[in-house]
Amino acid sequence: NEVPVRTALLSVSDKTGVVELARALHEKGVRLVSTGGTHKALAQAGLPVSDVSDLTGFPEVMDGRVKTLHPGVHGGLLAIRDDAEHQAAMSAHGITAIDLAVINLYPFEEVRAQGGDYPTTVENIDIGGPAMIRASAKNHAYVTIVTDPADYPVLIEELASGATTYAFRQKMAAKAYARTAAYDAAISNWFAEALDTPMPRHRVLGGVLKEEMRYGENPHQKAGFYVTGENRPGVATATLLQGKQLSYNNINDTDAAFELVAEFLPEKAPAVAIIKHANPCGVATAPTLVEAYRRALACDSTSAFGGIIALNQLLDAETAEEIVKLFTEVIIAPEVSDEAKTIIARKPNLRLLTTGALPDPRIPGLSAKTVSGGLLVQTRDNGMVEDLELKVVTKRAPTAQELEDMKFAFKVAKHVKSNAVVYAKDGQTAGIGAGQMSRVDSARIAAIKAEEAAKALDLATPLTRGSAVASEAFLPFADGLLSAIAAGATAVIQPGGSMRDEEVIAAADEHGVAMVFTGMRHFRH
Ligand code: 5GP
Repeated sequence: NEVPVRTALLSVSDKTGVVELARALHEKGVRLVSTGGTHKALAQAGLPVSDVSDLTGFPEVMDGRVKTLHPGVHGGLLAIRDDAEHQAAMSAHGITAIDLAVINLYPFEEVRAQGGDYPTTVENIDIGGPAMIRASAKNHAYVTIVTDPADYPVLIEELASGATTYAFRQKMAAKAYARTAAYDAAISNWFAEALDTPMPRHRVLGGVLKEEMRYGENPHQKAGFYVTGENRPGVATATLLQGKQLSYNNINDTDAAFELVAEFLPEKAPAVAIIKHANPCGVATAPTLVEAYRRALACDSTSAFGGIIALNQLLDAETAEEIVKLFTEVIIAPEVSDEAKTIIARKPNLRLLTTGALPDPRIPGLSAKTVSGGLLVQTRDNGMVEDLELKVVTKRAPTAQELEDMKFAFKVAKHVKSNAVVYAKDGQTAGIGAGQMSRVDSARIAAIKAEEAAKALDLATPLTRGSAVASEAFLPFADGLLSAIAAGATAVIQPGGSMRDEEVIAAADEHGVAMVFTGMRHFRH
């Protein structure tokens, strides 16, 4: 069970903590063997260390592409220590048993995330490292493999007696295979991207555990947040400036909020989205951020309680003052002013996240969800209404204002669970109907929401009067349209393409409503 450690092979790209570890090993009488760069670092620290070529009788060649790929190394890692034949082979070929391997890999993931050019990225595919990691991990009955500098202190503790236990070696082997699997996943995903084969035969979505949450969607579910290394500003890479750890639901909702608000280019206008349960309850643009916040809140101030707020630009003091008046779970913004930070600090539980930038809504990337026994993968919905050819299908063409409101409503509808019906007026949502099994119900709910908002704001008429209405998928019958017209909508935007388009267009014409077809659908289930 306990295996004494006599010889250790250290070969690391990330040299964090390796000198300290090697010193501790040396003090325990462990013989140190190392590859070029690691050897240099240890020798410079004054530690006695021999070179891998002493084990192999073969020099490092081809710019380090071939350093450790040799039976002198792999025999030492893979030999079954109490097998007579293996022992004989070791003596016959002068192979030394390696009891401990400390290895981390060429920084392929980092080079990829930094957008390294093709040859640089390829050169950062480690070959010898994964081979040694896998060999050591397979032979964990005898060999200890350590791949994470965070485990060095644990290793030193484990080695107090000069040996490692089976349980420890087994645990480290499991970590090692997860490491090489994630490494190869990153490489294969990079290739899929580079060769534009979005759906390769084998798909591994790898990631590194960023944090384990207390629980998942519900308290009896376990949950973890894995960072994939995708170069996209958002909740995965954001900095938490204050507040406690985000929950599973917080992360899901914050992502929805930030992806929605990023649809609104900051140079056009400040925009604010307030999200509850991954659906927006209010979205608005305005000349100032604080005004955008007030208008987003006005759409449904009841639901906004305990919501997630996303901003498309720097959170300023004025907006921060408004936000702290209400209970909010999370704020996410590209940046925050110092003054705003001080204001938010008055609510220590409010989580404040900054991302440095907005994600580009046009970049496809991948989205995935599991189903029983499978993984459903698709490219992200990167369709933008600005890029679409809008077709006026009614006798009356929309006014310039109606057209603006239509586009606004359609943008928001893209981020609302289907069936989605969104009323918008003057750059603000007037009513949102989400996630109903019937489109007519979504239209009705959105209208009810608008009426409630009008009551709360003491308005004579709900904002749906004279609004534009968007449906994220085609209106299959005239009934949805009629319900929107009853609520006061004068302009309609929808993908079109229903068998009954003619019927729907006729109904719009009959009521003097302007309607455009986008030709693009935004289901979100
Ligand atoms: P060093 O800085 O010590 O020269 O190199 C350490 C790195 O080389 C480690 O990341 C290790 O995984 C990698 N490595 C070890 N052996 C080989 C090999 O034979 N070929 C390649 N390509 N990389 C190796």
